[in-house]
Amino acid sequence: MESLWQSLWSGNRFLGAGWEFWKYVGWLGNALFFSFFFMDTATTEKRRQVVIPSAFWWLSLAGSLLLFVYGLHTRDAVFIFAYAFTWIPYVRNLVIHRRHTAAQQLCAACEATCLPSANFCHQCGTKLPQG
Ligand SMILES: [Zn+2]
Repeated sequence: MESLWQSLWSGNRFLGAGWEFWKYVGWLGNALFFSFFFMDTATTEKRRQVVIPSAFWWLSLAGSLLLFVYGLHTRDAVFIFAYAFTWIPYVRNLVIHRRHTAAQQLCAACEATCLPSANFCHQCGTKLPQG
């Protein structure tokens, strides 16, 4: 009778998927990619704003969705897992970026864009109304 382990892992296959050398490389890539996700989340939450321009997130979002579709097409578990959740931080960062941009103050004197928390314009020094 087959043990539970043997039914999960038989020969070169785990849950019916092949686990040759390149799969380990792919899953290591997944692990490294997701470490970026946690690092980015920590940085964004700490600073309460997204430092990277929104174009980067739009490109990342489009790229990851295409790679996800590609993964579904090739039925590659590594690709599917790698890109099934990557859109979450991209969309979150775009939402934060949009909120942050909407909250910025416009200096009445020189029309410079100033941080929501600023008391004075960083360009001309005029006192800001919300500051
Ligand atoms: Zn100003």
